Amino acid sequence: MSRKMMVAGNWKMNGSAAQVDAFVDALAQSEAPKDVDLLVCPPLVYAARLAHALQSAGCAVAAGAQNVAAEPAPGAFTGEVDGTMLRDCGMTHVIVGHSERRALYGESDEIVAAKADAAVAAGLVPIICVGETLEQREAGSAEQVLGAQLQALFDRCAERTLAASIIAYEPIWAIGTGRSATPEQAQEIHAYLRSQIAERDATLAQSVQLLYGGSVKPDNAAALFAGGDVDGALVGGASLEADSFLDIARAAG
Ligand code: PEP
Repeated sequence: MSRKMMVAGNWKMNGSAAQVDAFVDALAQSEAPKDVDLLVCPPLVYAARLAHALQSAGCAVAAGAQNVAAEPAPGAFTGEVDGTMLRDCGMTHVIVGHSERRALYGESDEIVAAKADAAVAAGLVPIICVGETLEQREAGSAEQVLGAQLQALFDRCAERTLAASIIAYEPIWAIGTGRSATPEQAQEIHAYLRSQIAERDATLAQSVQLLYGGSVKPDNAAALFAGGDVDGALVGGASLEADSFLDIARAAG
């Protein structure tokens, strides 16, 4: 089965209204590859503006969020935003379980699975992140760690959730460091993840999009995408500028 490539931008806590507008203007004036799914996830306060601007400009680029409540609305959950609200504001995807949320905000496997379930229940596509630390890689336990993260998803998520999800392999040592995994390292882990998924569900293993994330730039994207199990990228820093985001998208096309 041939899977569609995807390039998703994670702006983290960067950007402004002016930057959203400039980004969309630049996209509207450029040729984006048509055979690649494109997504941008800005900070939540700008996401509706982005979704609206992309739609008005006729850009075939989706808008997404970086987080979602595990609980459905309505409810007394101060500061939270649920998936139906994200959909209501034009978002189609949400990043779940990014390593920064796991490490800085205490998101456990249980919370990550609950958020993925909540996203799918609301009609969103979750991009579920997994990844190992440098210590774990150097100790030779990357596959074991990733296997356990995957197992937790299979154990905890509702049955339909993983069939509706995208998985991003983001080695923590490669995020924001300028030190990407090599194309061989990325392909090796992606093949491992796909084989682990195949042990539970052979059809899902063939269809699920596996993104690589960690210091993807225009100059390393094509080599990373050459891996047969690498179906695109989750891009942080290089997604903030339309030019570099588009260059990565073209490398996937
Ligand atoms: C990320 O934020 O998920 C990420 C991969 O960041 P960067 O591309 O900057 O390493």
